[in-house]
Amino acid sequence: MKYDVIVVGGGMVGAATALALADAGMQVALVEQRQPMPYDNASEPDLRVSSINLASETWLRQLGAWQHLQQMRLCPYQRLHAFELASHVVAFNAKEINHSHLGHIVENRLLQLALWQQLDGKLSLYCPAYVTALQQSAEQASVTLNTGEILEAKLLVAADGAKSQLRQFAGIGTHGWQYRQACLIARVRTPYPQQDITWQQFTEQGPRAFLPLPDHQASLVWYDNAAKVKQLAALTPAQLQPLLLEAFPAQLGQVEVLETGWFPLAKMQVNQYYQNRVVVVGDAAHTINPLAGQGVNLGFADAKLLTDLLTTAFNQQQDLAAESLLANYQRKRRLANNIMMAAMDTFYVGFSQQMPLLRKLRHLGMAVASKSGKLKSFVAKYAVGLS
Ligand SMILES: Cc1cc2nc3c(=O)[nH]c(=O)nc-3n(C[C@H](O)[C@H](O)[C@H](O)COP(=O)(O)OP(=O)(O)OC[C@H]3O[C@@H](n4cnc5c(N)ncnc54)[C@H](O)[C@@H]3O)c2cc1C
Repeated sequence: MKYDVIVVGGGMVGAATALALADAGMQVALVEQRQPMPYDNASEPDLRVSSINLASETWLRQLGAWQHLQQMRLCPYQRLHAFELASHVVAFNAKEINHSHLGHIVENRLLQLALWQQLDGKLSLYCPAYVTALQQSAEQASVTLNTGEILEAKLLVAADGAKSQLRQFAGIGTHGWQYRQACLIARVRTPYPQQDITWQQFTEQGPRAFLPLPDHQASLVWYDNAAKVKQLAALTPAQLQPLLLEAFPAQLGQVEVLETGWFPLAKMQVNQYYQNRVVVVGDAAHTINPLAGQGVNLGFADAKLLTDLLTTAFNQQQDLAAESLLANYQRKRRLANNIMMAAMDTFYVGFSQQMPLLRKLRHLGMAVASKSGKLKSFVAKYAVGLS
């Protein structure tokens, strides 16, 4: 079968990419190894959730997927607090940037499902399937699937996550490192009704974060050294509960632990964003410390830029894998992703040092930041993707 573009990986970023290209009139194939579980409104929220910023929301609305998500489950937040000491809270409020909210906490699977609902019938879906071989020539690229089918296209998009197989088939190398910290995620029941705030306390062992979920639930993220996180994750919810209450600030309230899981943290970026007729997006291109909840938002920004450039090229009947197009994509996204990665490393290093001088500087910095209206407004706009 011949297509304009084949997207490999139908997660949040790959599905959005495929949908935008199909909407632009291209013949698109989407290859995904696993069918997402359907939604059931009686089900408990998933453990894997993401903070989706305003820029991503705007694009997902344009794609028509956000509207499906609203029929399922999501939780907006208007306020964001970051602090080390309770006396110096850097508080962001949606009103300061003239918006009704700063972002939403959504379940990854539901956002993927919302995108799949919207792309239904607009493209050729190969699922469950995965790529077993890649061939590239000057005019086109082709992939062989495990089902034996051979698909051909002008361009292949690797959106198959951090361990991207297509990226490896294309010989695109990566660089990065594993952080010493890992994070424990706990879904909890809180004594309070649905909250409009997400907060993060920085400690020298790692941040403690609160993400609101619908009703009386929340997702907590406990960053600590990897060995400790593994030990915590091996505990039953009842064993973990007192340790968690001790580690988190009192404003959390008397939560009940419902479910836990843990994730290693790695920073990775590709050495090149394309090779011949293969281009990478989302976690296939980069992974970032999740402490500021930016990973998939960067992925959506990759996908938005790439699909905009491809739409222009398609309308002008140009080669979708033209060197100038892919180099332009690489230049812009590498810069933006590098800036965000550097910011995360500054937080990570700055807050995990126990030197008294650095601690004083940190406290001073937080005190200044908590009072500086312009700086706060700039940071808020940057974090929600408006700057
Ligand atoms: C603990 C934690 C918290 C996070 N919190 C946030 C947050 O608050 N906000 C945020 O923006 N980001 C967050 N992130 C990052 C976010 O989860 C990722 O950036 C996002 O999931 C990447 O989406 P993706 O579609 O690029 O890749 P993935 O979600 O990995 O999707 C890849 C897809 O490709 C499929 N696939 C894989 N291999 C193949 C193959 N060989 N053939 C076919 N299909 C294949 C997979 O089944 C999957 O559907 C967090 C990450 C972690 C670890």
